Amino acid sequence: MTHQTTCCYCGVGCGIVVRQEPNGRLTVEGDKDHPSNQGMLCSKGMNLHYTVMDQSDRLLYPQMRLNRSMPLQRVSWDTALERTAAVFRTLIQKYGPDSVAFYVSGQCLTEEYYLVNKLIKGFIGSNNIDTNSRLCMSSAVVGYKLSLGEDSVPVCYDDIEEADVFYVQGANPAWCHPIIWRRIEAHKAANPHVKIICVDPRRTDTARSSDLHLPIRPGTDIVLNNAIGRLLIEKGYIDDEFIVDHIDGFTAYREQVMQRTIAEAADLCGIDADAIRTTAEWIGRSKGFLSLWTMGMNQSVVGVNKNLSLINLHLITGRIGKPGNGPFSLTGQPNAMGGREVGGLANVLPAHRDVTNPAHRAEVETFWNSPVKIADKPGLTATEMFEALADDRPGAAPLKAIWIINTNPLVSLPDLNAAESALKKARYVVVQDVSNRADTVAFADVVLPAAAWLEKEGTMTNAERRITYLPKVLNAPGEALPDVEIIWRFAQKMGFGDAFSYNTAAEVYHEYTQITAGTNVDVTGVSYELLKAKRSVQWPYPAGGWGQGAESGGAGTKRLFTDHSFYTTNQRAQLHAVPDGNNSEPTDDDFPLVLTTGRIRDQWHTMTKTGRVSRLNQHAPQPFLQIHPKDAEERGIQHGQLVEIKGRRGEVRVKAQLTEDVRPGLCFLPMHWGKFLNNTLGRANNLTNPLIDPRSKEPDFKFSAVQVTPYQKP
Ligand code: SF4
Repeated sequence: MTHQTTCCYCGVGCGIVVRQEPNGRLTVEGDKDHPSNQGMLCSKGMNLHYTVMDQSDRLLYPQMRLNRSMPLQRVSWDTALERTAAVFRTLIQKYGPDSVAFYVSGQCLTEEYYLVNKLIKGFIGSNNIDTNSRLCMSSAVVGYKLSLGEDSVPVCYDDIEEADVFYVQGANPAWCHPIIWRRIEAHKAANPHVKIICVDPRRTDTARSSDLHLPIRPGTDIVLNNAIGRLLIEKGYIDDEFIVDHIDGFTAYREQVMQRTIAEAADLCGIDADAIRTTAEWIGRSKGFLSLWTMGMNQSVVGVNKNLSLINLHLITGRIGKPGNGPFSLTGQPNAMGGREVGGLANVLPAHRDVTNPAHRAEVETFWNSPVKIADKPGLTATEMFEALADDRPGAAPLKAIWIINTNPLVSLPDLNAAESALKKARYVVVQDVSNRADTVAFADVVLPAAAWLEKEGTMTNAERRITYLPKVLNAPGEALPDVEIIWRFAQKMGFGDAFSYNTAAEVYHEYTQITAGTNVDVTGVSYELLKAKRSVQWPYPAGGWGQGAESGGAGTKRLFTDHSFYTTNQRAQLHAVPDGNNSEPTDDDFPLVLTTGRIRDQWHTMTKTGRVSRLNQHAPQPFLQIHPKDAEERGIQHGQLVEIKGRRGEVRVKAQLTEDVRPGLCFLPMHWGKFLNNTLGRANNLTNPLIDPRSKEPDFKFSAVQVTPYQKP
């Protein structure tokens, strides 16, 4: 028997065919009919069936303990949910609705995301829901919103084959979005004039395969982009007519980018001025200019400004809303985009509505028939939730209980020692997950077993706004339930049964589509039946038609802004004159090196899935620190030696890899490992800092001050 589904790892959203043999064995292969991957899969996707067949670490039954010194005990679903509802009701009565919070995940399906939002925003009366997607793409969300009027990715993967210049900044798609990268490589192989520019302080596989690598100093992306903007203006590569007709803010932008000479910019970035000139020349002469970025841009204390500085380059050249052109933020998680659509962040409501907009709140309250007013201020974001749990000073946020769904914050949050203390201090912790590998289970008062990939049905949206349906293929083991059912059962226990009396995920999805009516995210034309028939569609996809979808053969809207009418109130896109400073943690004599964290080819996030597949572990069996040979020599560090990395908040011990792939002054540590060798000394986020971008609230994972020394046994 075969089933068409979607990979549950990264935001590329590859189509997968799962084969189920009579003996129960599963195999997977790329779906040749899926437009995103056209049959290709990367190493992670190709090994997905192993994560399903190995049930050894699955959570099978609800568990509970009356205090943290006691072991978890198996209980019934009713007992676990009734106790949790009783605790939530008591806390809400005593401290108000903001005393509880949900921390969810870009791996949640759209239906789960929607329902938990409805519960807390529309029925509990708090906006305390945020997602681990806050850690990877919230700066892009704000960047799109400020420039284009709404959080809307304007491009699609088919633009790859239409572009002739790729500007890849702060991303390593060769490892982290491999199928997108293979499409770029194949396009370049067939069209040798195509140019790839990679901006990254590290010489990654993407950088190695590019025509031009700009190994800038960490934190200088805006300096570089403003310098490119200046050259595009000076060389006459801007689109004057497009600017006059469709763009606001050009005068201030020009003044800003003219403040620095190219020589100054090159000096600050630590690269050759000619490399900046070549980049501007290639972009200026291109017919299709596609920029791609991820964490190197987003995970920054100035992440929004970085995004704006890049989107600006598309606006001044008119390279947006046309085939092969546009700013493309790649999402890290399979349904980070779906979470954005349903309002899965502390500051938004379904269909890109805003919690601070009274008309938007009223629309949603009416639709949900809410018994409470939706709060008019954003709730706590990811890092703010953990800070609030730890803060019991008078006047601090009253957060007491947190419900964590399908994410592993004790590996993925910054400043982990603080996050761990916060979870210890929390009055009540619910962990809803698939596997007991989640480091949070040790801190949970209640553990709820969730169905995994292939064990539940629902939808996801990939990085190009493509919605796909995931069928249920297998029964979940033990008493594990689909996340959406856990949420509606809990809502019923809270006394909201009338509004949460669902029987299927399809009912939840249908309700969600109706709340999008008339918005720019309109998916009223999408249903499970349509998705099963068409395999996937791209939003917007309103009922009775699909807007600009004629070019896609009825599969939805490939590109946004083809009429150059943007989602701002005056339909004009906005240029932003962004200052080029960086506000990251300062280095000093004690902590003179900059640490950047990131991903490796065969692991995904906190390894709760990929870490179970032995052939994926072979690529890098242990965490490691990449350090430049010059920095290593100054410290007496040999290749392969155990080193101690110390920062202002913690330490890590791993083996050193001496390589010129990192700049002098910079070192790199993968972020995947949690409790390494049964202690916490492999956790990169022991060292990262709590700084966040003030607008996107995204952490500064790429820039922490550290010192590295050979490890001496005490
Ligand atoms: Fe899965 Fe991403 Fe690999 Fe595609 S590129 S197979 S979506 S991990």
